[in-house]
Amino acid sequence: MKTLAIDIGGTKFSLAAFDGGTMVHRETRPTNREGGPAWMVEQFHEIVQEWIRAGFHASRCGIGFGGPVDFAKQTVTLSTHVGGWDSYPLIQRVTELVSGPAVLDNDANVAALGEAHFGAGRGFDPLFYMTLSTGIGGGIIGAGSVWRGADSYGGEIGHLTVDPDGPDCLCGSNGCLERLCCGLWLERDYGKSAAELMTDERFVLRYVTNLARGLKAAVMLLNPARIVIGGGIAKAGDRLFLPLRAELRRQIPGWSRARLDVVPAALADDSVLYGALVLAEDI
Ligand SMILES: [Zn+2]
Repeated sequence: MKTLAIDIGGTKFSLAAFDGGTMVHRETRPTNREGGPAWMVEQFHEIVQEWIRAGFHASRCGIGFGGPVDFAKQTVTLSTHVGGWDSYPLIQRVTELVSGPAVLDNDANVAALGEAHFGAGRGFDPLFYMTLSTGIGGGIIGAGSVWRGADSYGGEIGHLTVDPDGPDCLCGSNGCLERLCCGLWLERDYGKSAAELMTDERFVLRYVTNLARGLKAAVMLLNPARIVIGGGIAKAGDRLFLPLRAELRRQIPGWSRARLDVVPAALADDSVLYGALVLAEDI
């Protein structure tokens, strides 16, 4: 079975071609925010045509979208980072690229599936996945499947309030985990990239206080067998993870025997693509 996998993000998008479980083609391009969905789907066509000429014909497609998705309706709810997606018939347009069905979910849910089946979450169930990138998203895996909740808004850890006196967030609330810890806001608040800030030990010590407040909610509610963190900021490795684990241990009540197993994603920039493959397998 041949599968097309699509990862739609606010700063870049990626496509992969899978033959069975093997990735045979992959391409990433920067997102043109002004271009909107119609521009991006044109890019999909261009890439897929090239792969078709190379002999790859996908019969199904999985999509991870960087924003809230109504899974039951298979529509994008909104994108806080790029406009024009909420009313766009994404599934219909993508179905034209493959000779078969397409399925769409929020990118954090999809990345969670990818890490659970192919990455750092393999053998750890339930699993909590968090993406720490331009924004912050979360995905819950139980018994191998995404736990989406009643209306497909489960796992939205990015908009938990971690500082009630904190600054306004794009979501309309304030002091959200995403507002205080995501790459977009770190750059706006400190004038430096997240990667650069992660090399400053004193900064990281302050940073992990808020980050651990968010993760504490996941630990207390879900008692996950493992927490996997992906996205660009997680690439800081031990410089981030050692203080984060120590801070999380400090914040969790002493009586809780919940394990604190927090590790970086194993699939790097491909968590969503592998997850889109898993998602498409269930269509
Ligand atoms: Zn928010």
